[in-house]
Order: sequence, then C-alpha cells, then structure tokens
Amino acid sequence: MPLLDLQGPVVNRPPVTHVPAPAGSSAAARKFGVKPMPELVWNEDVARETAHLYERIKAVVPAVEWPIFAPYVKAINELKRERNAVILAHNYQTPEIYNCVADFVGDSLQLAREASKVKSEIIVQCGVHFMAETSKILNPEKTVLIPDSRAGCSLAASITGEDVRLLRDRYPGVPVVAYVNTSADVKAEVDICCTSSNALQVVESLGSDTVIFLPDQYLAKYVASQTKVKIIAWKGACEVHERFTADELRMYRESDPTLQIIAHPECPPDVLAEADYTGSTAGMIDWVRHNRPKRIVMVTECSMADNVQAELPDVEFVRPCNLCPHMKRITLPKILDSLVYMKEEVVIDPMVADKARRSVERMVNLQN
Ligand code: SF4
Repeated sequence: MPLLDLQGPVVNRPPVTHVPAPAGSSAAARKFGVKPMPELVWNEDVARETAHLYERIKAVVPAVEWPIFAPYVKAINELKRERNAVILAHNYQTPEIYNCVADFVGDSLQLAREASKVKSEIIVQCGVHFMAETSKILNPEKTVLIPDSRAGCSLAASITGEDVRLLRDRYPGVPVVAYVNTSADVKAEVDICCTSSNALQVVESLGSDTVIFLPDQYLAKYVASQTKVKIIAWKGACEVHERFTADELRMYRESDPTLQIIAHPECPPDVLAEADYTGSTAGMIDWVRHNRPKRIVMVTECSMADNVQAELPDVEFVRPCNLCPHMKRITLPKILDSLVYMKEEVVIDPMVADKARRSVERMVNLQN
C-alpha cells in the first residue's frame, strides 16, 4: 500500500537545543548534593582494576587509548554505585560507554522497557534528549539526567505538538502513531508511540484502515510497504540514515558479492531495496549474532558496528562511517560531570508528561 499523503514543513527546522543549566543549580543537585570531582589518574592500580573492562573492547579500542578512558570509567562506576544510579545507553553510544559504564544497553524500545522497570533513584541517559524524556515520562518520581541536554535529533526537531493538532484538524478521527523519536510535547498529542522494532505491529493494532504516522517519512514508507493500512506520513528524516545511498551499497556489493548488507528502516526505500535484511538496531544486532556473516555492512550509525564488533571479533565490518553528531555529544567526561554535579536534569511539565505517558505505556504494554 503506497503512502496516502505526505505532510510536513517545506524546510527542515534547526535542531532543538536545550540550554544547559549551570553545574549544581538543579533541583537534583539540591536534593542529592554535589560530590567532589574524583582524581583522574592512570597508574598500575587503575590498570589492574579496569583490565576486565578493557577486555570487552580490545577488538575496537587500541591499547594506547585505554589510559585516557580508564580513569573516567573507574570514577563513573564508583560514583554510580555511591549515588545508586543506573546508566542506560543506546546502541549508538561509543564502545567505552556502551561496554564499560552502561548498566543496560539497547534500542529505544529496550531502553524504554528498562526505564519502566528501573529501581534506582537516578537514571543517567546516554542517548539523545527524546530518550531521556521518555525515561522521565515513565519515571516521573525519579531523577533523570542527560550528560549533554543539547543532544537533539533531526526527527524530533521536525515536528511539534501544534503540528499534530493541525494534522488532527485536517484528518478528523484518524489515529496518530508517533515514532519515539519525538518530544514529550508531541507524544502528549498522539494516540500511541512506536519504535522501529514494533512500528508495523502498532499501526495494525489500531484497527483503523488509515493511520497518521510521524515524523519519519522513510519508516512510514517501510511500514506502508508491509501493510494494507493506508498511511499518512510526516516529512521528517534522520540526518544520519538519509545520507546512505543505493549506489554506495551496490559498489560495496560489486567489490565483494559475498558481502551481507543489513539496514535500518530510517533509510530511504532505494537503500532498503539493496539490503539482505531490514530491521531495528536490536533486530540488526540479533541478525548478526544469529547469522555470523564473514563480512557485513550495517547501514546505520557507525558506532553500532564497533559495539557488535567488540562482541563478535570474528565478523568483519565494512564501515561507511555516518556518525550521529547528537549521540556523539555524550562522552565519558560529561557522564562523570552528570554524576558529580547532578546535571543536566530532565524536567517535563507534569500535565504534558501525564498525557505523553499514556501513548508511551500503550506501546510498552502492547503484547508481543
Ligand atoms: S541517528 Fe538519526 S534518529 Fe538517531 S538520534 Fe541521530 S538524528 Fe536522531
């Protein structure tokens, strides 16, 4: 079923930036206090205490770089225990974050599910701002920190709550599905959220012959290609996945016909047409674990190949390296700052959060 309609802004909006609060000024800093900054040194003790963590990433991080990361890794893990904090990290985080300080890793859906089960009082979200908002929506009584609140997303920036209200006026009675890559303001206006793992299931769960799907036009097209439900899409796009081209994938394939290509559904349709498998980041990781290809291109954000390579050193990854500049704002020094100064706290208007929670929980509770 082709797309019924494509709605959206004529020009891309600039990324939303959230102005960081000064260190120690948040309600979280007043509640939990500010800790002294740990001493960051590389010596034999630090080398010994962190050796088991370096083992996890030695396939992708050269030994010469570990003395830079290790003092931060040690300090973050100690402070995390002291604060009773938990770190959630997205699959696009760099290997030293993903493998050495995170308590839970995964795609947006897995992180949303973990966020709803977390017992700790403090959540540090290593990902972009909408992910930290989702954790706060699901845990209104907990303190959610993001190491750099300027970590935005081109998809989340492409649409506002007001845009959703206008869509509802234009298509009265048509249910609205929002990809989780949206602000709390947008989630508050829609019927249900989805991720790339469950988008088709969510669209078909609504029992409607037409659905508004936002904000990713390419994920909308992918879903439309798999269902009889008519899809009205928004014209947003991920600035990372939109950069891949079918030509470059054909070039890789011609240079090695045995090469496997797996792609994320945020890519344009002609790119997906070149792929042997299309799925969410979690689906792509499972595909590699299960199929153990000799050589593979993962058509998604570049750090994910590093993280899978760390786990599966026998698989060779061909890397067209498209990095997400927003995900890369999260670094070990900023995570440490978060835990020392209790910044940057994610705050959502409680009325918006209550409405947004309904659409996120409706997704999380959807039976598999
Ligand atoms: S990779 Fe794309 S969808 Fe993911 S955070 Fe970056 S811009 Fe947003």
